[in-house]
Amino acid sequence: MFIELTDHLRCPEAHPEAFLVLIPGAMQGRHVVDGVLGCPVCQAEYPIRAGLVEFGRVEPPPAVPGPTPPEAAGLLAFLGLEGPGGYVALVGEAAREAGSLGALLPGVHLALVNPPAGTVPSTCASVLHAPRFPLKQRSLRGAVVSAPWALAPGWNDAAADAVLPGLRAAGEGEPPVVPGFELLGTAGGWWVGRR
Ligand SMILES: [Zn+2]
Repeated sequence: MFIELTDHLRCPEAHPEAFLVLIPGAMQGRHVVDGVLGCPVCQAEYPIRAGLVEFGRVEPPPAVPGPTPPEAAGLLAFLGLEGPGGYVALVGEAAREAGSLGALLPGVHLALVNPPAGTVPSTCASVLHAPRFPLKQRSLRGAVVSAPWALAPGWNDAAADAVLPGLRAAGEGEPPVVPGFELLGTAGGWWVGRR
């Protein structure tokens, strides 16, 4: 896990969001290979093992036939981003495009949340396993929620909440209903909106 991502993580327990405290063990440059994230509110501790952040057991919702996530260029068009800096979250199947999207967005760090099995972290992408969206409100330059998590309650809303004002989130299924989030369009089972 990229160490600076710590500032944008939240405890997945259902309490008001608070910062997490990182106790790093093994590091590789600016990446935490082993360590612990602690929550000062509920005292939960979450391990980082082999670079993977483990916020808890993740049981994906049942898969139903849906649209295939767009390729990286399509995701980039959804998000309307250019220039380096900041963080973009890819939830679920869309994380397959992380390598290509990372190449299109140099200097942007990707947070891959519950990506397909076998996804490993890289210098430009952290991998997080979480029972609910693990990033804070107003912490991201963009977010994409795809199957199967887009169909789970709360994920689309949380992603919309997590983008910075003026920036975009996109996903499958029901568009978020979040104050201040403006739906820009829907097509092919996907929605795109702006905070
Ligand atoms: Zn907590």
